Amino acid sequence: MLDVETAQARIFQAFEPLPAELVPLQQARGRVLAEPVAASRDQPPAAVSAMDGYAVRAVDARPGNWLEVVGEIAAGSPSAVRVGAGEAARVFTGGLVPEGSDAILIQEDAAVEGSRIQAKETIRPGLFVRPQGLDYRQGWVGLDAGTVLTPLEIGLAASLGTAWLSVRRRPRVGLIATGDELRLPGAGLGTHEITSSNSFMLAAMLEAWGALPVDLGIAKDNPTDLAAKLAAAGGLDLLVTSGGASVGDHDLVRRVGGDAGLTLDFWKIRMRPGKPLIFGRLGLVPLLGLPGNPVSAAVCGIVFLRGAIRRLLGLDPALPMRTGRLAQPLPEGIERQDYQRARRIGDGLIETASRQDSSMLATLAKADVLVVRPPRAPALEAGAEVSVIDLAAVLAG
Ligand code: AMP
Ligand code: MG
Repeated sequence: MLDVETAQARIFQAFEPLPAELVPLQQARGRVLAEPVAASRDQPPAAVSAMDGYAVRAVDARPGNWLEVVGEIAAGSPSAVRVGAGEAARVFTGGLVPEGSDAILIQEDAAVEGSRIQAKETIRPGLFVRPQGLDYRQGWVGLDAGTVLTPLEIGLAASLGTAWLSVRRRPRVGLIATGDELRLPGAGLGTHEITSSNSFMLAAMLEAWGALPVDLGIAKDNPTDLAAKLAAAGGLDLLVTSGGASVGDHDLVRRVGGDAGLTLDFWKIRMRPGKPLIFGRLGLVPLLGLPGNPVSAAVCGIVFLRGAIRRLLGLDPALPMRTGRLAQPLPEGIERQDYQRARRIGDGLIETASRQDSSMLATLAKADVLVVRPPRAPALEAGAEVSVIDLAAVLAG
């Protein structure tokens, strides 16, 4: 059995960043920049007024000195106005600061009489002027390759002057659920039947991580049906199955996959939940066979699938690890690396769920963190520090 770190390394190194594609700004949120974006010019491109008022020479703007208003410049006006000694120009926020002037007298501080104005107070040069390049200079690299674009960064990209962005193509990931007992939510269920929660959970995870899930449906536990579903995987960047990975008579993924040309990299890892994980290649398509129990599928999704997707997007596949303090003692750990559902209970303390059965999706959905305990971890006292995976952080999209 492989340890978790080795299995992660084997999976992650099987993926390379996908090629780039161009998308318009409107479709860029959450996408990963493949190329940096630099400013096409200074912002602002010339000195502009920060306020509504009058462009003046600061030395002229003092009480008792009337100035003649010689022109008007609003935002968007290409100004040909020039302000000389004893003159001012009406200017609005975002309007170009006219040649000859060096400050803005805000309108609240101006006395107006016909076409003349007078400052109520003296002002200093540069007041309320936004100099050329205040925000950034031409050529400034505002967005680096590898940026996962947020709304603010999309605003910045637009400001920098690009309408289209070069981003990594979204990984296309096929999902096959397996099991005679599985139905879609909403169907009438016999007591021998359950809904395929994994299909929906894994698809949502993939979307959050920036991939495009392609639901290939539920395969019955018979070789013909599973083989037909596996045959639909051609052209995908990754195929993910859930269930049928274990040692039971009805666990068909390795057997039927083998008949379809599966080259197995490994099967089984030293982990709980998630021991029967499968990784290999079906023709050209990498195949990740997740265990069927929903908690096992989710934890293996977080520990392995997330990193594979991040590699396809050119991002760091490492799981961000944090620490937490235990509210209660924990006994000595098991032989395998153990991922335990836990909740934050305040004061920085976390409390592990009393039952950790891998079928119990409700306790996972209500958990805040997974406590990660290495194989044969020593017993811990209440208050001890442990490594945790913050679920909200790793599932954020
Ligand atoms: P298996 O790995 O196929 O033996 O499945 C292990 C357990 O997970 C069984 O109790 C299955 O009913 C359950 N299971 C398998 N696939 C799913 C799924 N897609 N959604 C919810 N539960 C599942
Ligand atoms: Mg099954």
